[in-house]
Amino acid sequence: MSSVLRGRARSEGRADGSRWSVRPVAGSDKVYRCPGCEQQIQPGVGHVVVWSDDHLFGEEAALDDRRHWHRSCWQARDRRGPR
Ligand SMILES: [Zn+2]
Repeated sequence: MSSVLRGRARSEGRADGSRWSVRPVAGSDKVYRCPGCEQQIQPGVGHVVVWSDDHLFGEEAALDDRRHWHRSCWQARDRRGPR
């Protein structure tokens, strides 16, 4: 599972200097809550799975902490400035 995620992810740098792995997904069979807008991502809706490239406890912990974002919310994140 985690190796599948890792293989298709690309690395992105954000405006605050942090680095993230971003993996597009075509849609899943579960509902997720997007951290960008606090709205649900419905099953079957394409979105991105994001996790930190410099997690304090390493890559496996980062994968465990991964978040599901709407594509547009992830792309808009820099425009709101670093948190
Ligand atoms: Zn969203």
